[in-house]
Amino acid sequence: MAAVTIWNEFRHEREDDDVAAVYPDGIHATIADALAADHTVQTATLDEPEHGLTADVLESTDVLLWWGHEAHDEVADEIVERVRERVLEGMGFVPLHSSHYSKPFKRLMGTSCSLQYREDGASERLWVVDPGHPIADGLAESTELPKTEMYGEPFDVPEPDRLVFVSWFEGGEVFRSGCCYRRGNGRIFYFRPGHETYPIYENETVRRVLRNAVAWASPTEGSPRTFGKRD
Ligand code: ZN
Repeated sequence: MAAVTIWNEFRHEREDDDVAAVYPDGIHATIADALAADHTVQTATLDEPEHGLTADVLESTDVLLWWGHEAHDEVADEIVERVRERVLEGMGFVPLHSSHYSKPFKRLMGTSCSLQYREDGASERLWVVDPGHPIADGLAESTELPKTEMYGEPFDVPEPDRLVFVSWFEGGEVFRSGCCYRRGNGRIFYFRPGHETYPIYENETVRRVLRNAVAWASPTEGSPRTFGKRD
């Protein structure tokens, strides 16, 4: 059982009735519901002091999930640095969907993290391309998500250490939807599904992926990380 913090920007749900109809208590609440049976879950949102990510909160977090979209720039650089440092120490980090453009993910990747997109509500087929990977545990070889926003390649991220999912879209585009990285002691899993106007986080396959991703990204005890001059 991991100590999970789910961070959500939590603006669309409060500003837009269409989004509130899909996620009435916020995207973070729906994700919390998907994880609560397996993990200890707390949530944090942008408009809380320190965005809900105090040093104490991060210190006690094994895995941080992140959903942001319209207010990436409002995340204080000091908090971004705090997240980055905790990842290097070993905290797992799972940026979701439009969080490809979040400050912590861009900072950890070092590239633009840009991609193509089209918000047309067409279908997506999410393919497992690494069937033995722990994040794919219990999944079918592919899953159709009937209404999604398209993300297309090129996706300007570093080559992932392991690629777990590739999506195909009705418009013909493809996308690397599940990318694993290591930064310092921390494990990072970028997962694409999750647009705010579609109930993607109600989908059972998506929820299984989130649970698997938390288990995979949880820190292991490891060995001390010591640097610098030795006597
Ligand atoms: Zn979106």
